[in-house]
Amino acid sequence: MSRVNPCLECGACCAHFRVSFYWGECQSAGGPVPDERVIQVTHNRVAMLGTDVKPSRCTALVGEVGKPGVSCSMYAQRSSTCREFEASWEHGEHNPACDTARAAYGLPPLPAPVIISLAS
Ligand code: SF4
Ligand code: SF4
Repeated sequence: MSRVNPCLECGACCAHFRVSFYWGECQSAGGPVPDERVIQVTHNRVAMLGTDVKPSRCTALVGEVGKPGVSCSMYAQRSSTCREFEASWEHGEHNPACDTARAAYGLPPLPAPVIISLAS
């Protein structure tokens, strides 16, 4: 049984952490990420615009954090950092950083799936 994707009513990680990655993921270097969406942060790394400041919020994030309808406006073009950041328990593993981002917006940690044993 699958659950509804919790990210579709969260978005906290996109508005809490600095989202940085190797510049080679930008379109000018042959990658998917539009150059105008990033800012250079070191000689070989860039960050999503809006995430290199406090308070942080990626300029590609649309909607209100913690509300239904929040989404990434460049989902198909997002970086490996975004693609690899998973909601807790999405594939059975806890992601404490997911908890941290959610807590910053007063959202509870995602609950671990309940394992029901039929053995007696
Ligand atoms: S590019 Fe999309 S997934 Fe990545 S931080 Fe921005 S809004 Fe979030
Ligand atoms: S903080 Fe966790 S639940 Fe919220 S959008 Fe990010 S990965 Fe999804």
